[in-house]
Amino acid sequence: MFAGDSEMARRCRELDWAATPLGPTEAWPVSLRTTVAMLLAARHPMILFWGDERVQLYNDAYVPTLGPGRHPEALGMRAADCWRGAVWEIVGPQIDRVVATGVATWHEDQPVPLPRRGRVEETFWTYSYGPAFDDAGRPAGVLVVTQETTGRVLAERRRAHAETALAARGDELARVNDRLSQQQVALALGNVQLQQNARVLGEQAEELRAAAATLEEQVAAADGARAAAAASEAKYRALFDTMDQGFCLVEVLLDAGGRPRDYRFLEANAAFAGQTGLADAMGRTARELVPGLEQHWVDLYGRVALTGEPTRFEQGSDAMGRWFDVFAFRVGALEARVVAILFTDRTAARAAARERERLLGELAAERDRLRQAFDQAPGFVAVLRGPEHRYEYVNGPYAQISSHRALLGLTVREAFPELADQGFYELLDRVYATGTAFVGHALPIQLQPVAGGPVETRDIDLTYQPLTEGAAGDARVTGILVQGRDVTELARADAALRAAARERERLLAESESARARAEEANQAKGAFLATMSHELRTPLNAIGGYVELLELGVRGPVTADQLADLGRIQRAQRHLLGLVNGVLNYAKVEAGAVHYALDDVAVDEVLRVCEALVAPQVRARALHAAYAGADPALRVRADREKLQQIVLNLLGNAVKFTEAGGRVALAAAADGDGAVRVTVADTGVGIPAELRDRVFEPFVQVDSAYTRAQGGTGLGLAISRDLARGMGGDLTVESAQGEGSTFTLTLPRAPSAPSADR
Ligand code: ADP
Repeated sequence: MFAGDSEMARRCRELDWAATPLGPTEAWPVSLRTTVAMLLAARHPMILFWGDERVQLYNDAYVPTLGPGRHPEALGMRAADCWRGAVWEIVGPQIDRVVATGVATWHEDQPVPLPRRGRVEETFWTYSYGPAFDDAGRPAGVLVVTQETTGRVLAERRRAHAETALAARGDELARVNDRLSQQQVALALGNVQLQQNARVLGEQAEELRAAAATLEEQVAAADGARAAAAASEAKYRALFDTMDQGFCLVEVLLDAGGRPRDYRFLEANAAFAGQTGLADAMGRTARELVPGLEQHWVDLYGRVALTGEPTRFEQGSDAMGRWFDVFAFRVGALEARVVAILFTDRTAARAAARERERLLGELAAERDRLRQAFDQAPGFVAVLRGPEHRYEYVNGPYAQISSHRALLGLTVREAFPELADQGFYELLDRVYATGTAFVGHALPIQLQPVAGGPVETRDIDLTYQPLTEGAAGDARVTGILVQGRDVTELARADAALRAAARERERLLAESESARARAEEANQAKGAFLATMSHELRTPLNAIGGYVELLELGVRGPVTADQLADLGRIQRAQRHLLGLVNGVLNYAKVEAGAVHYALDDVAVDEVLRVCEALVAPQVRARALHAAYAGADPALRVRADREKLQQIVLNLLGNAVKFTEAGGRVALAAAADGDGAVRVTVADTGVGIPAELRDRVFEPFVQVDSAYTRAQGGTGLGLAISRDLARGMGGDLTVESAQGEGSTFTLTLPRAPSAPSADR
């Protein structure tokens, strides 16, 4: 009747259908047979209840659902027994309703706890309830088709779960992604900026501040992001810890009045201790760590904390003995008063900079001194640089010798084209190439003070000294120090001097021979005079002798007139004899033939003798003579007789040249220079100024007629001065015509006589 009839017949035979309320298969209504056929063929578990809800049939797929040991006994079992517990509570009312109404229904994905694999597992089932009608068309049974949907339900649940989780994860990922990209940007900036030098420290720190803010956001973020934040923090920690710069977070502490009084270290990177020298700083305050810390540090960070304005500065701390380059900025809210400090210990760099400055200062001062020395140097100095000998420095004299032409920056060849064929360029090149100095004296150089003008030849002393740079072993020449001086005038003066010296030599030789000749002549004259005097004295004495005989009347009576003539002859004879004696004396002195018997002579003694000897003449001429006496102990080194001769001559002159009533004064005293001065002063006629020195020359007389009348020869002073000089003394005069004269004899003082001798 329908495909499957035979199969159904086979199954039905297997079952003892006759024992069922349905009876043998052949007696079944068509609908039942159709249903059974479908049921048997279906792959889903199916079960049919019939009559008063007893199991009529189930297919093979249903056998596992029945549970172990219930097949085939389940046939004919009541539905309530077949499905108990939880399942029956689901299934039972539906079966009842389908049997009552004949309307199909279903349940999807009902949860059914089932014992499986040794434990109760939650399984899911979909139930379809289809009515089965009897031949009269009344609902008489229910076909229940089941299908386990555990796999699908769980899969859907997992999927939904997964979707929710995925969505949540997606959100989280998006958030994390956002942060990561922020951090990546910050990190990239940080990295770039870290590679930059200290001058961009500020910008870098700004970035770091942003990064730190991000870090803070992360700290505040939800638990889900905490891992990412931690990772990020770790990254920053790693970043901060690998930085050379010191980094720390501090909390600024206020006093009761709200003023910053200290700050506490909250966090620090690895470089912190090295940069500050502070160990175990965390949790401690700056004042605890650094006793005597300057208030300005607290003020600075306090201001950053309270105003939120970042600050950048360089500042030293004597208390820490360091100098820092600091960038500080506030992190987080005002109330937290947390300041991030990014800093570098600049102590060594600053000390180095200071040392460098000091050395530079010294160098500059040294340069100045050198320059001054060069500027003040009497000679010319220039510094040439490079193989072309370019002027780097010239002093005043150099500018002068180069006629003040502009030199600096020019090469020697440019500045002095006129030197082209004079060998100086080549000398410079050689000194530069060999490093060996050149020294030249009085080198002629032809300079052209005005370009195209006349050439001027100068003589210069010149030194080219190589200037080197580098260590001793590998010093190289970089320039030449030119030094020298213009010796033109010197050379001229030298030449003139040499000529003068030659001339002097010549004149000296000439005068020497003249002197020798004069000496010779003088000696001849002396000899002549001595001879002549001697020859003259003999007849003069004879004249004198015979006059006296005639006067005495030895040759017969003499008349008064004859006597008067004899008197005249006698005066003339005496004058002539005095003259001849004087000439003889002078000639002796001049010829050096006088012998001096030097002794320590008491001056007072000699003067008293002289005074006594001239007393008659003084009286005869009605003069006033004065000698107050001298210190008896005062002695001179002299020849006593010659001393007396000089004094007598001076006194004689004073008496001769002083009119009646005049005064003649004799005195002697020691002067301060180890000499004794004997003075003879008169109030006589005096000596005209033009003759004052000449009266010491032989035969010079102021008024020869007058002198002759006084019996003078003009030789007394000449002889006296020669004698005084012969004893180591001198004779000088001071006089004014008509007012008198003062002659001064100076002689070496001898030690005073012992007081016992006085
Ligand atoms: P004389 O034998 O002429 O005195 P002196 O050599 O002693 O030769 O003196 C030279 C001259 O110096 C004198 O002639 C006289 O003119 C002058 N004379 C010397 N002493 C005096 C004096 N005290 N007062 C003035 N004239 C003097």
